[in-house]
Order: sequence, then structure tokens, then C-alpha cells
Amino acid sequence: MKKREFLKTTGLLALGVVLSPLAACKTTSNTSTNDPKNDNNAAANQTPKTFVLPALEYGFDALAPHIDAETMQIHHGKHHQAYVNNLNKGLTEAGAKFGGMEIEQIMAALSADDADKVVRNNGGGHFNHSLYWRTMGAATDKKTPSGLLSEAINATFGSFDKFKEQFTAAAMARFGSGWAWLSLNKDGKLFISSTPNQDNPLMSKVVEQSGTPLLGIDVWEHAYYLNYQNRRADYVAAFYNVLRWDRVEELFNKATKG
Ligand code: MN
Repeated sequence: MKKREFLKTTGLLALGVVLSPLAACKTTSNTSTNDPKNDNNAAANQTPKTFVLPALEYGFDALAPHIDAETMQIHHGKHHQAYVNNLNKGLTEAGAKFGGMEIEQIMAALSADDADKVVRNNGGGHFNHSLYWRTMGAATDKKTPSGLLSEAINATFGSFDKFKEQFTAAAMARFGSGWAWLSLNKDGKLFISSTPNQDNPLMSKVVEQSGTPLLGIDVWEHAYYLNYQNRRADYVAAFYNVLRWDRVEELFNKATKG
């Protein structure tokens, strides 16, 4: 009796022992083989995020006379708002492809294919302008970088003035509409580049030089035409007067740590 119960118990236990590793194995193998897929599926099953126009931290007239109030009002309220609206439409149409993604993840995920064109143009427009507003401001006397960013600029370009020369040249050389950038690549090196339209260095499947943008200047005519007409050089020169280097440094410090 005791022996039979013992056998029965051990049999059940043995069965349990057999079952449980199988069950564990199944879970483990599912987890280990499908983990990245599951992550993608998890993201893909989510609906895309809805983006909103970020409020300006300063008044439309705060950057005058370097950038005039009317340009700011139209640029922020009309142009950037349109990028946000069209990004949200494009994301809805793209369905699960960019589900649950933050704007930076969308930038990295999109390709140069026509299917991604709406998200590329308008997602780029949203990211680029958000950075542009954040790195400008009047309430600052930080006309030059400091700290580790200053050291990196000197080491990479020779001096702050040489950096300005190269950045200005990139902004001037961009034919038509686009942006010039100061970015940090994945090897931790600063570089200057320029991109057409609303492309940016986060779009690693699209641009020649990819990295984390620290600073970007909009050289679309809508950024300067009301005040400067065709004089892009005057606008680029004025841009340095409203640059918040403390913000650029924050982005640099974050990018070098992470
Ligand atoms: Mn613009």
C-alpha cells in the first residue's frame, strides 16, 4: 500500500518532472528564438503614436531682429503644424509599421522607399523643427560652447571659428531646401553634414552620414525669406546670435554617455 502509493506518487512526480521541463522548454524556446520578433510584433501590434506641435519656449518676437516674429509665427504655427498633421496622417496610413515608436525610432526605421515618403518628409519635418526651436533662444548669452563639447569642437575642427566656417559653408552649399547639421556619429566623433528636404542624420537608411543631430539650421526659404529675401548668408550669420549652446551641450553630453 505504502509502496504502491509511493510509486504512484513518484510516477506522478516523474510525470510532473517530465512535463514541467517540457513546459519550461517550450516557453524558453519561444522566448529565446522569437524574442526579437516578439518585440517587433509587440511594437507592430500597437497603433502609431499621435504627435503634437511642441509649444515654443519663447515668444514669436524673442529672436528678433535675427529672426523676425512673423517668420516665427508662420514657421511654427503653419509649417511645423502641417508637418505634424501630415505625419499623423501618414502614420495612420502606414498602419502597424511604425506602431508605438517614438519619433527617433521612426527616423531610424524608415527607408528611402516611396512607401515611407510621407513619414520621411513629415516625420523629418517634425523632428527637425522640434530640435531647431529647442536650440534657439534669446535669453542666453552663451554664444560659444563650453566644457567637453568645446574640447570636441576644437579637436575636430581646429577651433570654434573653424567650426563656424565649415557649418556656414554646409548651410550655404545646400542647393534648394534642406538643413545643415552638427552631429555625433556612432564612434563618438563630431561631423558636419547637410541633407535635402526634411531628411536628417537619424535616418540611417537614407542619409550618407548618420549620427545623433546636436544642432541643425533650417535653410528652407520659409525660414528666412520674409526678413532676408534671398540673402541666406545673412540669415545663417544671424542664426549664431540666437543659438543656445547650453542645449547643444546637453544633447552632446547625453549622446556621448549613451
Ligand atoms: Mn522649416
